[in-house]
Amino acid sequence: MPIPFLDLKEQYLSIKDEIQAALARIFEDANFVLGRAVEDFEEAFAEFCDCQYGIAVNSGTSALQLALWANGVKQGDEVITVSNTFIATAEAISLVGATPVFVDVDPTSMNMDVTKIEEKITDKTRAIIPVHLYGQPVALDSLLAIAQRNQLLVIEDACQAHGAWYQGKKVGSFGQAGCFSFYPSKNLGAFGEAGMVVTNDGEIAVKLRALRDHGQRSKNVHEFIGTNARLESIQGAILGVKLKYLPEWNEKRRQIASLYNELLQGGGDLVLPREDGPSQRVYHLYVIRTGYRDKLYDYLKAAGIGVAIHYPTPIHLQPAYRELGYKKGDLPVAERSAQEVLSLPVYPEMTEKQIAEVTREIKKFFARHLNK
Ligand SMILES: *Cc1c(COP(=O)(O)O)cnc(C)c1O
Repeated sequence: MPIPFLDLKEQYLSIKDEIQAALARIFEDANFVLGRAVEDFEEAFAEFCDCQYGIAVNSGTSALQLALWANGVKQGDEVITVSNTFIATAEAISLVGATPVFVDVDPTSMNMDVTKIEEKITDKTRAIIPVHLYGQPVALDSLLAIAQRNQLLVIEDACQAHGAWYQGKKVGSFGQAGCFSFYPSKNLGAFGEAGMVVTNDGEIAVKLRALRDHGQRSKNVHEFIGTNARLESIQGAILGVKLKYLPEWNEKRRQIASLYNELLQGGGDLVLPREDGPSQRVYHLYVIRTGYRDKLYDYLKAAGIGVAIHYPTPIHLQPAYRELGYKKGDLPVAERSAQEVLSLPVYPEMTEKQIAEVTREIKKFFARHLNK
């Protein structure tokens, strides 16, 4: 039996009745954009993130873009982030007219190397976007100290880290705003596109609510030029149902990760994911690293195992960002990790048998390759 990278149907079947009841209420109310279901979910998710306000939007990309926009980041500004992330992190910066500035990553955590932030700060720098990659929190204590010292905004990209803690507080609650994606494959996924900004700043919250809805403060009063980034009621209702299960699902992913760690220990020329510092990570992705990545990828695919690469080309080497003038070798750690990372299947519905099968194949691969 093939083992998929993710099994969203299995998850739906486990909560089918609740989802259908929630959807029936939306269809009968016939109020399809924002509304009560979205408001209830905003409140519940903000609380889940230890934040006062939640502003639901139509994607994680919109969440990042609107968070920068609401905080006044604009044309001519520079925003520091990393290159080994989903392109949306950088796009959001470009979409408000600012320029992304990439700092290299730490070779152990593969998260932003906070010791390299200050050398990238210029008089144009306005903000830092740390990305909690794969669900592993960035070293926020040093990062926040640097931001404070240099009067920079911090906008967290928590799109892969729903429910991760850092020093006892949820990620997303540390900076001026925390941004989440509820793309279907995320730890908390909609049945379509969805995202949210969480914040403790009441003024920013009011501004975000206006920006996502054509800059409207009240009906037909357009205070600023905004956009349409509203969330559909259907997605709010589904996410409201699923949020209750998120802690349980995150825990299952954790158990799967520790079983992988146990079974893969000494299983070949590979580096396993770690738990770093004062944080409790979540496993959006379980990512191993190996110098044999491409061969292992092909081998596992051929064996019917769903694997993926996050991400094969760092953003500074993407054609879209050619004009920034980066070249190969500028961010050596991020570039090397792009060649070594491999994401194994990890989802709450995975069985022990499936996990054992994945690890057996990986060991088989290394036994063959390393003995040649
Ligand atoms: C998924 C993701 C996004 C974008 O979210 P969308 O909802 O797909 O727009 C941004 N940043 C990171 C790190 C992500 O993983």
